[in-house]
Amino acid sequence: MKTFKLRLKDKHAKQLTAISSSVNFVWNYVNELSFKHLRRTGKFFSAYDLAEYTKGSGEYLGLHSQTIQAIGEIHAKSRKQFKKAKLRWRTNNPKSRRKSLGWIPFKKSAIKHLATRQSGKKALKSTIQLSLANHQKLIIELFDSYNLALYDLNTLKLVQDARGRWYACITVKNYPKLEHGTGQVGIDLGLKAAATTSNGDVLTTKQTQKWAKKLATAQRTKNKERVRTIHAKIKNTRKDLINKFTTKMVKENALIIVGDVKSKSFTSKKTNLAKSTYDAGWFELKRQLDYKCKHAGCRFEIVNESYTTQTCSSCRQIIDSSPKGRTGLRIREWTCECGVTQHRDINAARNILAVGLDRLAEGIPSL
Ligand SMILES: [Zn+2]
Repeated sequence: MKTFKLRLKDKHAKQLTAISSSVNFVWNYVNELSFKHLRRTGKFFSAYDLAEYTKGSGEYLGLHSQTIQAIGEIHAKSRKQFKKAKLRWRTNNPKSRRKSLGWIPFKKSAIKHLATRQSGKKALKSTIQLSLANHQKLIIELFDSYNLALYDLNTLKLVQDARGRWYACITVKNYPKLEHGTGQVGIDLGLKAAATTSNGDVLTTKQTQKWAKKLATAQRTKNKERVRTIHAKIKNTRKDLINKFTTKMVKENALIIVGDVKSKSFTSKKTNLAKSTYDAGWFELKRQLDYKCKHAGCRFEIVNESYTTQTCSSCRQIIDSSPKGRTGLRIREWTCECGVTQHRDINAARNILAVGLDRLAEGIPSL
């Protein structure tokens, strides 16, 4: 685990000062509560006990529930560390001699890395989305000297210095150095398998089915904790599978071509396949390929994948019996007039690779 301290753009200052006054409010409440409890019972409140008292307050304070939890945890930890019954009161008044510098903690689930891009010759700029209460988001922009796209962001604290500047202190998990291979691969994103490559590798990420029964039981018995655990498990397993797959792709190849799923028509609500697409994790897959390729110096392109399912990758003809659109989803294997039997997804992936290679040969950017 490493910690990076990155400067935020000044335009955020006003909003962050407002949010940090809510943080102070929670801190003071927790501080007071914990002190009273000690006087009454002779025992200290744990972060867990505190959470019981602050539950649901985020809505009114405009803070994410995890932020409130983090405040409780940090309070309990510092109280122990400094062996004090009560910690310092945090004040919002900027004119106070004992004014507190702004501070807003976020936990992993409230942090989302949106983009890292070049700004100027050397500098990178990153955009991070932080969750507040009621699905409100706080989008921050920061000067990024580390390229956050290469790391797994763990926790984030927004802190103010004495001059009123804001920084993000981000703890990250180390990302191993990746070197790309020499191969070329096309990847077809699908529903049955989340991804199939032109070499026949398959990534299956569907987890919901496997957990359906346990999830239903937990929901019936209103076991919220269990429901949350199962959802987290599904999410983590999927991310892990995608991680392994994308690392393998980069390690084996110098060129990776992915078919653009926007052209696939089955993401609409009408077709009732929204859940499957959500399950498949296409977005995460592309995101990971993008940053891992950048990191390893592997070429990554997205191409329009129209007709890649119908076209035979051996003779590049479209014949009548080849699968088309949704009705063709059931056709897993078909034989072309040229005599070659094609596996639906591998064939599509081979065509995607061919489209990508054609584009590169013509020297025009894909899509
Ligand atoms: Zn053919």
